[in-house]
Amino acid sequence: MKYEMVIGLETHVELSTESKIFCSCGGHSAAKEPNDCVCPACSGMPGMLPVMNKRVVELAVTAGLMLNCEISRYTTFDKKNYYYPDLPCAYQITQLNHPICTDGCVSVKTSLGERDIRIKQIHMEEDAGKLVHDDATNTSLVDYNRTSVPLIEIVSRPDFRSSEEVITYLKKLKSSLQFAGISECEEGAMRCDVNISVRPEGSEEFGVRTEIKNMSSFEAIEKAIRYESQRHIDAIEFETEELVQE
Ligand code: ADP
Ligand code: MG
Ligand code: ZN
Repeated sequence: MKYEMVIGLETHVELSTESKIFCSCGGHSAAKEPNDCVCPACSGMPGMLPVMNKRVVELAVTAGLMLNCEISRYTTFDKKNYYYPDLPCAYQITQLNHPICTDGCVSVKTSLGERDIRIKQIHMEEDAGKLVHDDATNTSLVDYNRTSVPLIEIVSRPDFRSSEEVITYLKKLKSSLQFAGISECEEGAMRCDVNISVRPEGSEEFGVRTEIKNMSSFEAIEKAIRYESQRHIDAIEFETEELVQE
């Protein structure tokens, strides 16, 4: 049987702002040494209140306009609990229920022709810190410079049908974001979660998906798609394993 891949992307982009999203610490390129740019607010000290960085809203709206989105007149933040040493508050401030931009679309031109990729939403959120694992001394170090650096997350609908479409979309996104001054998109500043499933060609139903998280190179994304789509096809075709959402 012939199979078709179905892919949806969640793309995290670090914004080029002078300060962090909820405090006045320096933004993504300000730090010189580990833990240079940390204050009571972004290190989660008791009683500290987040104060919204206006520039983050402006850049998120710019991204939304570029991607043909609706811009929300009413937008809210939510706390996403997650206990891990890279997140000193033990929650991430993000947008779940009322994101800043919704219902956009981007066209991509590949060997499959010119197709529209729908954007489900763009939301604003804060980044986590960075853990550095030192095997030589068997220790883990924490760098909070990236904690609370502003991100936008651009969520697509599951509209991609090939890795060529994915890479074409990401390249277009990257050059648009750079052109509009939203992000410099340097190494590691654009990170992707790839959601992938396969289905028999002609089928209307979606298969079980897996999410491959936190990839920052086009090459890695392409390899992951190739590997994972083949694993899904084998699982269905030869019943080698049962696919679960993971
Ligand atoms: P969740 O709320 O569980 O994160 P979403 O509906 O927001 O799920 O989807 C997350 C991402 O997964 C989106 O980019 C979406 O396009 C993609 N996605 C959803 N279902 C599938 C599927 N069956 N195959 C591939 N990608 C999918
Ligand atoms: Mg996700
Ligand atoms: Zn701070």
